[in-house]
Amino acid sequence: MDQVSWLKRRKPGIKDAKRREMPDGLWRKCEGCGEIIYHKELERNLWTCNKCGYHFRISADQYRDILTDPGTFVELLTAIESKDPLGFVDSKSYTERISSAKKKTGRKSAVMTGSARVDGHLTMLAILDFRFLGGSMGSAMGEKIARLTRMAIEERIPLVTLSSSGGARMQEGILSLMQMAKTSAMLAKLHEERLPHIAIQVHPTTGGVTASFASLGDVIVAEPGALIGFAGPRVIQQTIKQELPDGFQRSEFLLEHGMIDMIVHRKELKGALAKLLDFFSDDDRDSAEDALGQARKQGL
Ligand SMILES: [Zn+2]
Repeated sequence: MDQVSWLKRRKPGIKDAKRREMPDGLWRKCEGCGEIIYHKELERNLWTCNKCGYHFRISADQYRDILTDPGTFVELLTAIESKDPLGFVDSKSYTERISSAKKKTGRKSAVMTGSARVDGHLTMLAILDFRFLGGSMGSAMGEKIARLTRMAIEERIPLVTLSSSGGARMQEGILSLMQMAKTSAMLAKLHEERLPHIAIQVHPTTGGVTASFASLGDVIVAEPGALIGFAGPRVIQQTIKQELPDGFQRSEFLLEHGMIDMIVHRKELKGALAKLLDFFSDDDRDSAEDALGQARKQGL
């Protein structure tokens, strides 16, 4: 630095540059193995630990970016929002809880719904946002999932759901429980129409969401180490009065016991999804039907 510029800096009225601060979140500690990981590296690994494979919790937007072809996601049903039909108050009013969740996430309900392409395959896609009141299912989520499923039927497009949820939204009482029946009934129609639903479960998927649409996939895919269950382990332990086995309610345990179909690392999730969509695509189905028709004609 030459003398003139040094003098200039010392002139009154000219502020010194702000002290350099360490940016927040430059390093993250892995909750799996305790390793300190550089943020950029974590981002490159899609928020999974290189050392132990731990999957960090990420937002609905991040999942959208990971799973879909760039620029193809079109958000739908954005007008449907969480409301407080019962005027419910616990330690805080439900209206207040909704408005702070809206502010925090920038969305109007705990699920993002839309259409997108996955490796070229057009799909209807619903991604739950755990940051919005624990991804819990109230009337808005139920309605959005049901309507998206109906759109999938009308347009004859496969449905993909990605769940992370604490379960039903207790502040909406019975109305939230009714969403389990509503989403399940619409998915039964999707099934009758012979359209696929691929359900992805990530950490944690619990309660009424597990007990409805999240478990109604033609194929159920989970991320490694995800907690998936209906009631929590403590409640179960108290009820059955037995020690629970190691790894109980984790995706690996569930795969072993036939509750889910596959465990896929987040880095391979899009590829696996594309492969499944390819497998279920109309072309394959048509050619399979043609082959069957031909075989019948030939009296085989
Ligand atoms: Zn780790």
